[in-house]
Amino acid sequence: MSVARRGLSASLVSLLVVGCPSHPVPDGVATDTGPLSEAEAEAAPATIEPSSPPPTVADATPTEDDGETPERVPWPPTELPLSLMATLAGEGGDARATIRDGDSGTVATYRPGDKIRDGVHVLAVEDGVVELERDGEVEYLSMSSGTLELSATDAFYPDLADDLALPDDMSDAIVLPEGVEYTIKTAGTAWGTPRTIGRLRDAIRAYARSTDGEPKVHIGDLSLREGGLFPPHVSHRGGRDVDIGYVLTGPQADDRRFISAHAGNLDVERTWALLSALLDTKAVKYVFVDYDIQRLLYDHVVTTEGGAVADRLLQFPRGRRASHGVLRHWKGHRNHFHVRFER
Ligand SMILES: [Zn+2]
Repeated sequence: MSVARRGLSASLVSLLVVGCPSHPVPDGVATDTGPLSEAEAEAAPATIEPSSPPPTVADATPTEDDGETPERVPWPPTELPLSLMATLAGEGGDARATIRDGDSGTVATYRPGDKIRDGVHVLAVEDGVVELERDGEVEYLSMSSGTLELSATDAFYPDLADDLALPDDMSDAIVLPEGVEYTIKTAGTAWGTPRTIGRLRDAIRAYARSTDGEPKVHIGDLSLREGGLFPPHVSHRGGRDVDIGYVLTGPQADDRRFISAHAGNLDVERTWALLSALLDTKAVKYVFVDYDIQRLLYDHVVTTEGGAVADRLLQFPRGRRASHGVLRHWKGHRNHFHVRFER
């Protein structure tokens, strides 16, 4: 898959970023976090074929399997500059649609529940048609019967690409775009491998679905566009490291800056929802989390996941030097955590 790059240049990169301090990979880091995420069998089509005419009202009716016959409402087609490129039917949340946003030139894949823009989210995906909710009203988006124009500056996000076909290096690096469910601290330092970006986007969306999207996730540094040395980080060289703020309570929750978390401001439930969504990608090698913050999370993890899972995932309570767990203490991770994805 060819991956278009957005016009961010290395000159935008600020080395004044307050990032993750030095944290070389500790020896003995557990790698038993499960297999790589399973490759998705379907790849997004590279060409757009004309499809059937816009759906009838009946075609666009939700197919809830709760036995109720939904009311047949003549939903209007959306007037937003969105183009439906592909749909993948599936059970419930597995259905997906690849949509191009004509304003941003973003081509990405969405599942039911995902936001496309502020105030616009996907209600359902069916064969060749997507139901959208826009400011409380239902609209539909169907495949064009003509040719879809793509722009050379379009940015493709390979959410549907065959996992095994994606490069592991920065040769096809893409930048995380601004999104409705997250903020990015520094433009120009959020480059990652396509696989990392895809997994990060998946995890953020899963977090947003579980928390109604509030507060937003605060993303810090990934890597520079070409990868390589990225002071003051020791890692963050290969597009697989991501710094993310803890989810906080009160007004601090919306602050883009990384703020030190403690018992008085840590949103334990949402922080765990975010960590859990990342771990659910089955591709996280480890997460650096300050030991005292692991302590604050521990009881909640035991309650929600069970003692065995807490025991496997957390280093706590074995001590901050223990060579155990996916969540590991590393100095400098009180105001953000650091996710390292597997290749
Ligand atoms: Zn880091």
